[in-house]
Amino acid sequence: MTSNFSQRLIRWQRKHGRHDLPWQGADAYHVWLSEIMLQQTQVATVLPYYQRFIAAFPDIPALAAATEEQVLAYWSGLGYYARGRNLHAAARIIADKYHGEFPRSFEQIVELPGIGRSTAAAICALAWHERRAILDGNVKRVLARHCGIAGAPGEKAVEALLWEQAEARLPLRDIAVYIQAQMDLGATLCTRNSPKCGICPVQDDCVAFQGGRVSELPTRRLRKAKPERRTALLLLLHGSDILLEKRPGSGIWGGLWCPPQFEDEAAALAWSAKEGIGITSGSGVYIRPEHALSASRYPVNSESRCESLQTFTHSFTHFKLHITPLRLRLSHRPQSVQQAGSLWLDVETALQAAIPKPVRALLEEYCRG
Ligand code: SF4
Repeated sequence: MTSNFSQRLIRWQRKHGRHDLPWQGADAYHVWLSEIMLQQTQVATVLPYYQRFIAAFPDIPALAAATEEQVLAYWSGLGYYARGRNLHAAARIIADKYHGEFPRSFEQIVELPGIGRSTAAAICALAWHERRAILDGNVKRVLARHCGIAGAPGEKAVEALLWEQAEARLPLRDIAVYIQAQMDLGATLCTRNSPKCGICPVQDDCVAFQGGRVSELPTRRLRKAKPERRTALLLLLHGSDILLEKRPGSGIWGGLWCPPQFEDEAAALAWSAKEGIGITSGSGVYIRPEHALSASRYPVNSESRCESLQTFTHSFTHFKLHITPLRLRLSHRPQSVQQAGSLWLDVETALQAAIPKPVRALLEEYCRG
């Protein structure tokens, strides 16, 4: 049965699959970029980012010649910024080692930063029609259901079984159509919730469908509650400018520009006091009641205004971050706060820079005008 699994998918893709994605039928660079952007992110979200990115960096030499900051500015809002950093690092390796030409062998591709076995295989299959199996999130779900493979797909033994099935089902020809068919089936019919088994081309021998186990496969990993952390972001404004700091290259929001970040509001206020921002008599301050003590300890200049804004939550893969923004409008720009790696930027210019999504939302809501 597995032998005609691929043929049914290929026929289905030709009739019902997606044919108008801008990276379809394109060269390895475009396929690579799309594959990286599509990790953890849906096609509809990726499309505008992809178009803007390709317009700015039309080929590998252009990407390699850009600074990391320019690249991250085009990644800003897409999340998982290590993808953008790795993409840029890989482009520079390709420029140096392969004269700007995308390497032609799987072994060379899989060594590049940010490219794993499945992504390298997808590039080889889609760009050069090499007969290679992929195993991304969509394919894992389809195979776990169609073959009836239980166990969390992240477990080594389960993953090995899935790779085995992925290899065994490869067609002899039309590999690019088949790879696209797997992606399309997982994204449009065999979805995580409410799969459309009634119109699925492989329902006849789908173990999960035939056995009434669709909702239990693939086995969900037992999710522990995400740890929660708190932080305060200080929106330090002078006229239409905001103070931003470049974050270290690794860790959350690595390499992006952010307002100064603190453990909590009190730490932000203590820092403001240390930097000598408007420490005179305590008027013109609004601080939450529970921070009244901080307010009296760290009053700001009567010409400046400090406001504690609505706390909100941003979810990362491994934890939740509760962010309390503090907005402090300064009447004078203190030179002391500007360190190496920080700069004052006009808010509208900052919105074009490499900033994380929650910071973009804060700037749009609280810092414009
Ligand atoms: S029949 Fe349903 S569960 Fe099985 S592969 Fe098709 S969509 Fe997925």
